[in-house]
Amino acid sequence: MAGTEQDQVSGKPHVVVIGGGIAGLAAAFQLRDEPVRVTVLEASSRLGGKLSVSEVAGVPVDEGAESLYANRRRTTGLIADAGLGEQIMSAGVTASAIWTRGAIRQQPDRQFMGVPCDMDDLARSGVVSAAGVERARQDLVLPSFDREGDVSVADYVGGRFGQEVVDRLVEPFLAGVFAGRATDLSFEATLTPLAKAARSHVSLADAAASLTPVLAEGQKPPPVRVATLDGGFGSLPPVLVRQILAAAPDATVRTDAPVRELVRAAHGWRVTVGTAAAAEHIDADAVVIAVPAGPAGRLLAQVPGAAPAVSAFAEVPYSDVAVVTLAYPRAAFPGGLSGRGYAAYRVPAGERKAVKEVTFTTVKWPHLAGEVEIVRCSIGRFGEEDLLRRDDADLVALATAELAEATGVRGVPVESRVSRWQDALPQYTVGHFERVRRIRDTVAAQPGLAVCGALYDGVGVGVCMASARQATEQILAHVQHGAARPAAVGA
Ligand SMILES: Cc1cc2nc3c(=O)[nH]c(=O)nc-3n(C[C@H](O)[C@H](O)[C@H](O)COP(=O)(O)OP(=O)(O)OC[C@H]3O[C@@H](n4cnc5c(N)ncnc54)[C@H](O)[C@@H]3O)c2cc1C
Repeated sequence: MAGTEQDQVSGKPHVVVIGGGIAGLAAAFQLRDEPVRVTVLEASSRLGGKLSVSEVAGVPVDEGAESLYANRRRTTGLIADAGLGEQIMSAGVTASAIWTRGAIRQQPDRQFMGVPCDMDDLARSGVVSAAGVERARQDLVLPSFDREGDVSVADYVGGRFGQEVVDRLVEPFLAGVFAGRATDLSFEATLTPLAKAARSHVSLADAAASLTPVLAEGQKPPPVRVATLDGGFGSLPPVLVRQILAAAPDATVRTDAPVRELVRAAHGWRVTVGTAAAAEHIDADAVVIAVPAGPAGRLLAQVPGAAPAVSAFAEVPYSDVAVVTLAYPRAAFPGGLSGRGYAAYRVPAGERKAVKEVTFTTVKWPHLAGEVEIVRCSIGRFGEEDLLRRDDADLVALATAELAEATGVRGVPVESRVSRWQDALPQYTVGHFERVRRIRDTVAAQPGLAVCGALYDGVGVGVCMASARQATEQILAHVQHGAARPAAVGA
């Protein structure tokens, strides 16, 4: 299929979206009613990227991303626009615990992204030792930390509270979101609201408290509004594709279409798909790049003036992750799973376990509760590639053994599934925002080019969708200001 022919028929500027993950699909979805013709090119045989759902013991369970913040319009708005508003299902239990110091312990009631707000509350949780609490109290008396540039989470949070708070509370949180290490990750880019609040508070506990609701004595914080979709978060991509094609019959969404080259053409871009032996060229007026850093850097390598972005892409490492999903008969858990007061527990790296986070899926999502209990075990922090080289049977054995130790579950799972995610999560290491600025400045200087996805402002699906909106606004501004090829405009 050649872009030029259809453009001449449709008379619309042609926008090519490279990457059919949620960011690329959200961009195409946002363009569906606009006066452009859209083509999505996805390298793999499946759309959705890190969103995918399949059944385990007859229950639809997400293999990748599973939840969203229900109070963020940037996510729920797009879901509602796709006609899925009625299918947003709220979490039953959202509290999570920490498996540390020989027990599964509730997190402190008052914390923000793992950072404690109240030292007495921290002491009551038992997550850190008495000495650790004493060290954490120093946050209240230490002078202000001047921050010229970015610093690591370990440096800033550890400097205020000591190492135990980092190791047992903050890093486990970051291991869940980024699969990353506190020593590498950027304070500014991973704990962004807190890093901002810390500029106007001397104590980091006070900064964290300023971001959490004010509670009366003994009052518990309101649960975070977390939600998923009936049928799984992974049911979203096919719906988006159907809606794109229904609203824009001239749109094209292709799988098995790896883009291997992007070059500037006289009136826009020339995109090359496929192998060198069977190369196909597609002409575009504008291009949205919605792929991870590795392919993004390779695509821009031949583009004059793009070197600063290419070098910034090369500086973003990725972690790999595996999700082991286990189904057990309900009776296998002594005392049941639902009465424990938490739907997930995190495991600090220092505990030397394979699994870093466990979610009791059928507790978190009551609409999935039934004959079996489903448990999702997440494996893989940055630097744990050796662990992930083990075969599926080994990972299932590790996960079941550790789950038995933590919960007392008896017997073997009735079904299991291992989902492997290579280059799962970009590492927002120190200096991340400066790198993103370099990429965006470079891309902004290229007419009709925009970027979006997990690489930039946040890895959550909602943030990816917001970055897709920003990219589509840039592309529309470009094509609407007469930058489209004359052939396309006049036809
Ligand atoms: C296990 C796991 C659990 C997660 N849980 C949550 C969660 O509960 N909530 C949440 O909000 N977020 C979660 N996330 C994060 C979130 O899922 C991702 O950050 C987000 O889905 C990334 O979307 P994306 O479109 O930017 O990238 P991707 O999903 O990586 O999509 C990029 C696409 O580009 C394609 N591609 C690559 N190169 C090319 C090329 N040359 N040509 C064409 N196509 C190409 C890839 O095949 C891929 O399909 C989770 C992530 C993982 C891995």
